[in-house]
Amino acid sequence: MFKRLCLIGIGLIGSSIALRARQEGLAETIVVSTRRQETLDRAKARNLGDVYTDKVSEAVQGADCVILCTPVGSFASLGERIGPHLADGCIVTDVGSVKRSVVKQLKPHLPKNVHLVPGHPIAGTEYSGPDAGFATLFDERWCLLTPEQGTDKQAVEKLTSFWQGLGSWVEVMEPDHHDMVLAVTSHIPHLIAYNIVGTASELEEVTQSEVVKFSASGFRDFTRIAASDPVMWRDVFLHNKDAVIEMLGRFSEDLSRLQRAVRNGDGDLLFEHFTKTRDIRRGIIEAGQETDLPNFGRDVVVDTESNS
Ligand code: NAP
Repeated sequence: MFKRLCLIGIGLIGSSIALRARQEGLAETIVVSTRRQETLDRAKARNLGDVYTDKVSEAVQGADCVILCTPVGSFASLGERIGPHLADGCIVTDVGSVKRSVVKQLKPHLPKNVHLVPGHPIAGTEYSGPDAGFATLFDERWCLLTPEQGTDKQAVEKLTSFWQGLGSWVEVMEPDHHDMVLAVTSHIPHLIAYNIVGTASELEEVTQSEVVKFSASGFRDFTRIAASDPVMWRDVFLHNKDAVIEMLGRFSEDLSRLQRAVRNGDGDLLFEHFTKTRDIRRGIIEAGQETDLPNFGRDVVVDTESNS
């Protein structure tokens, strides 16, 4: 599909793209570029690409598709460095978790004859780096493309086919709409997880380590999300500020309503609310976006000391 695919950043997402693209023969040559030698060495050891370099200006030369797989806060600087070296007709895309900011950061640096088609695979784990990637990461997961109006249709179609080749379902949407939807479904849940784990770790001192020792599923599941990469998530909140603030306002109002129900002993309200939310989870399982296995399909490790 592409003659020369250039991946800038080769962490969880970049390495997963590389593995699947190679498996499916979606690119003749895969160029891997990242800033640290250590990461480049790991990418080489995993045989993720055909060409490796820490110089992005060299990496993009002759590429017909460049995918930025780095934290969102790095895009303006990368755009500036790659802009003058991009080939005519090249598709420039990314995998960043925020979309309006990508257009703002990249567009000023791209030549006219290059097609900018931002993208976001809704797939991931809490692990980072080139060893975290696996070829099936995007299977039956959505990838959202957010091209501006007037973007070359063929470029959007080609990128759509590429993501389908990686196993994804693809939908095209407006960048602002994307940022609002993802604020609710991903960014706020992460902020809540970071917050609850922070609160619990402060309480840890007063509870003499009992928070960790007796971490029941609720807290434990939050710790998984709160273990996500700090740089990536810092950048998400810095670059999706408006939508996150707007959605946090709504979240706080709804939380106050539940707080009132608890204070007033309003069991009917609590029951009705929890019934509705249970249906939402069932809907997600039915849509094939989550497993219904107990414990989220994870192996249960019994720690005899804590459970004695
Ligand atoms: P990752 O595993 O931490 O890998 C990040 C890569 O970017 C590494 O190759 C790293 O290079 C490079 N990098 C980091 N900071 C950089 C900077 N300032 N300038 C240039 N390169 C830099 O990250 P990831 O999870 O793959 O995430 C990459 C992108 O995918 C992010 O934009 C994120 O929003 C998006 N995304 C992530 C997930 C997820 O669940 N993780 C899901 C969907 C989308 P070195 O190691 O050489 O420093």
